[in-house]
Amino acid sequence: MRLRQIAVAAAVLGTLGVPAHADNARDISRDTLPVDDGWAAYGTGTTGGSAADDAHVHTVTDRAGLVRALDGGSDTPKIIKIAGTIDANTDDEGHHLDCADYATDGYSVKKYLAAYDPRTWGSARPSGAQEDARQASAAKQAEWVTLPVGSNTTIVGLGSSAVLKGANLQVKNANNVIIRNLDLRDAYDCFPVWQPNTGGLGDWKTTYDNIWLTGATHVWIDHITASDKGHPDAKEPTYFARNYLRHDGLLDITNGSDLVTVSWSRFADHDKAMLIGNSDSATGDRGKLRVTLHHNQFESVVQRAPRVRFGQVHVYDNRYVVPEGAEYRYSLGVSTESAIYAENNAFHTPGHVEAADLVKSWNGTALHQTGTLFNGWPVDLLAVYNAYNSGSERDLTADVGWTPTLHTKIDSAEAADREVARGAGAGRIP
Ligand code: CA
Repeated sequence: MRLRQIAVAAAVLGTLGVPAHADNARDISRDTLPVDDGWAAYGTGTTGGSAADDAHVHTVTDRAGLVRALDGGSDTPKIIKIAGTIDANTDDEGHHLDCADYATDGYSVKKYLAAYDPRTWGSARPSGAQEDARQASAAKQAEWVTLPVGSNTTIVGLGSSAVLKGANLQVKNANNVIIRNLDLRDAYDCFPVWQPNTGGLGDWKTTYDNIWLTGATHVWIDHITASDKGHPDAKEPTYFARNYLRHDGLLDITNGSDLVTVSWSRFADHDKAMLIGNSDSATGDRGKLRVTLHHNQFESVVQRAPRVRFGQVHVYDNRYVVPEGAEYRYSLGVSTESAIYAENNAFHTPGHVEAADLVKSWNGTALHQTGTLFNGWPVDLLAVYNAYNSGSERDLTADVGWTPTLHTKIDSAEAADREVARGAGAGRIP
């Protein structure tokens, strides 16, 4: 570059006061979901806050600003741009809050463990002083970290480094929401509850998903990264012979949510990634929970990528990576009345993971799959599942009762594998 060009470039940057990489970044804040791009394109499509007037376009840099912009989950069309890193565990004066700041009424992990040790307490649900104190403490944390997202809202990260830490974004009974280009980290629960009767051995249950869609319709989630970054559950202690989990889902879609597209996102370093439908008895979910997942990467995820009940879920062009040594249970969970239509997904696993391990069924009856690549080789997931599943699981049929029509171009698994590795996640919108 010649001296004059350097001088001009420096002058321009000085005037704008922005980093060099941002001056040609496209403004994505008024984007709407492309036509036919998955279930969220159904009917009226998904436009989020694109109709916001100038008074409802906010750039926020801290939790207090984000809360003001979210406006208590109002329906007013609004665009919220997150700049830099926002930590939900921050008080209104900007001080970081830790678990001790929320603990109240004499709660401590040590006293809680002493009170509900199965050897002395037995298998009844925890109750009494320490459980009451845990609930009161948890309620205090929830006030800070649970952030309601209302209808007609777009939330985007600015540039390539926007981060929302510790938050539980809740899209509750809201319609028409877009969340893009945001790194959502570590929805950390300070106060897990002991559930003695879960899964035979008991388990720790936590409250927060990075994003929870509950009764939410027309939602487009695109180019996000969601992970436990900062606090991997694997590094938490073991209490009552079970991992003291701190995180629930990365993106859970439940309670009649419907018409959701999740694209070009990265779900990483987590146990239970994505639950679509949370109960076999939630029959109100019948005909709902229609979700499209395409061009996402699931990396170091133990299970639920996704696990589905009731919904018609189109899972195409996704990339799954199970690193050597990582804990792994399954990827596609086929539960009650689920109708997963899986096309052209690519899996990379270490030697001890078999193709039949990629699928797990609880009360499921069908799974459509085609074009699956397993460590570079074509594999018929359904055939291997039916041949090698543990005898306690039923064989599945290929007829899920529907064929997806709302989708954009479907790539070969090989092409998707390459494109997703390069382009999925926050900070990577072309
Ligand atoms: Ca959840």
